[in-house]
Amino acid sequence: CFRIFARNSNMESLLQSESSQLRRIRGGGGQKRLSHQQKLFGTNFDLIQNAKIAVVGAGGIGCELLKNLVMTGFKNIEVIDLDTIEVSNLNRQFLFRRKHVGSSKAEIAKLSVEEFNPDAHVIAHHGNIKDAKFSPEYFKEFDLVLNALDNLSARRHVNRLCLAEEVSLIESGTQGYLGQVGVIKKGKTECYECQTKQTPVTFPVCTIRDTPDKPIHCIAWAKLMYEVLFGPSDDENVLVDLKLEAEAKEDKQSYARRIFSHLFESAIQDRLDRKDDEEGWGFSTPPEVLALSELLNQMECADENSGNSLSHQTVLSLPETVKEFLNSVEEIINSGHSGELVFDKDDNMAMRFVSTASNLRMENYHIDRLSQFEIKGIAGNIVHAIATTNAICAGIIVLEAIKVITGRFEDCRQYWIRSVGPKCIQPATLEPPNKQCWVCQKSKIDLTCDIRKFTVKQLFEDVLKRRLGMIRPSVDLQRGDVENFICEDLDDWSGNARWRDDFFKKPLSHEAVKIQHATLLTADDESQRFSINILVLDYPGMEVEEGEDEFIIGSKFGDLPSIGDGRSEANGTGSDSGEPTVDVTAPGTSDAPVLLDDQENEDDEIEIIDDPSVKSCGSKRSLSPQRDENCSSRKKVKH
Ligand SMILES: [Zn+2]
Repeated sequence: CFRIFARNSNMESLLQSESSQLRRIRGGGGQKRLSHQQKLFGTNFDLIQNAKIAVVGAGGIGCELLKNLVMTGFKNIEVIDLDTIEVSNLNRQFLFRRKHVGSSKAEIAKLSVEEFNPDAHVIAHHGNIKDAKFSPEYFKEFDLVLNALDNLSARRHVNRLCLAEEVSLIESGTQGYLGQVGVIKKGKTECYECQTKQTPVTFPVCTIRDTPDKPIHCIAWAKLMYEVLFGPSDDENVLVDLKLEAEAKEDKQSYARRIFSHLFESAIQDRLDRKDDEEGWGFSTPPEVLALSELLNQMECADENSGNSLSHQTVLSLPETVKEFLNSVEEIINSGHSGELVFDKDDNMAMRFVSTASNLRMENYHIDRLSQFEIKGIAGNIVHAIATTNAICAGIIVLEAIKVITGRFEDCRQYWIRSVGPKCIQPATLEPPNKQCWVCQKSKIDLTCDIRKFTVKQLFEDVLKRRLGMIRPSVDLQRGDVENFICEDLDDWSGNARWRDDFFKKPLSHEAVKIQHATLLTADDESQRFSINILVLDYPGMEVEEGEDEFIIGSKFGDLPSIGDGRSEANGTGSDSGEPTVDVTAPGTSDAPVLLDDQENEDDEIEIIDDPSVKSCGSKRSLSPQRDENCSSRKKVKH
């Protein structure tokens, strides 16, 4: 990897002057290798050997990174990973073998890399980085933290811990052929939260429900339907009204047929009947009802024509799709797990349902059907992880780590890895901190809400945890009273859960809470050593659309600070409010500069952020006339 990166790094001169040594290193191994490293790095080699390094994540990038570190001469390493090894990891997470499936990634990675360099001492932690044991004190012990994570919230958490203890952090991420590496140092560079991160592509719920015009709309619908029909009861599911229970003593076959008629026949007929209520469909062609009785006849013919070898790579005929759909429902009932299922792209039973159901819906809406393979790619939001990109990324991380550890911070750069253009690796100067960043600059934020309605629970759940990324928040009211401290820990409520829960249900203006207009709160998360001042601004009678937040970070509807939340920025309004949407992180639409999330994280796939009572665009309360226009105009757009 040294040879590859020499062109684009400040290691160039060093490596060129040492090229003869480098040639010998490639031919050497074991102790001989390290003796060559010693010559290569000279007196700096002690710094490298003695540096204490934390690697957060032992997945695609983490495996490469750990190997590079021990081969370079880093000896004191701790690795933290929550996951266990799955078969699907084996093609690129090369420290793992089939026999390791089910074992801790951190543990096996440790054992594997210690074989590369027996001098290395790696401590493995099989645990969640957000656990209290990985406290600021824990991070303080390290000279450098290297993130090899796959999700936004863990990255935010580590960012805060490193800022709190002023430990340098190298952040990285890849997505297909794209990648990024950057060094974060408190006060010198942007932190992870200085810039808004890549936001998921969102679709209004009305598009998913009533006006699909792309396969992804139908696939998102089918995933929701899978969980409505066969998952745990969930009133938050936007399609919950379409739930259809099996009747007493109903056999599997008739239940499957009834679901078919319900979803692809009656629901579409209802949609057609609603034409009179609205100005149109939003399409040039009305949707088409799929009549099961006719299709069953066609299926009999199809049975004669085709064998049982239905390939996942081919697009099935309509009769085949119907047959597969009915069989998939029966398979689910036979599994005995109906009522507890959650969509998982690697679960063949789930994919069989989602692929056939979405294809049937595509048929309803005149969208060309796809193969199960193609649907799996979209449903699982899969950008195939590329081992080469991870390797390039991990190589750059180690080069940057060497600079940090040997006191050459001024030589550090951030790097973009791209698949197009003259340079595969593009270095850039590290940006200084964003003065508006409320994470690394300790700015104050304004919280606008109707304090007569907005509850303490909403303050904790929606604002502090979800929007501000805190894990264990507490609030200090700064009133000088005795009881001016609110947290969720039961110990602080003398173990009285009911007392606490009652308190959390109270609105901010309640006399027991005593938050008024212009009250200044300090919210803390000790586990992140993070605190922020929040100025509460009352907005009496603040109207919000169904499903949107009942608060605004910022003043009224004015400019908002960068929040890096990714929840609502992509809905086209550019503000903190908008219509209900279904988030679908769309692969391939990302455009640097953002830190890209590894797509393996299922948390990031599809997030429903809607109120279940929303039926269509027309039935919502509106905040402003523009918003409704926004929604109805969306329906007419053909892509
Ligand atoms: Zn920042």
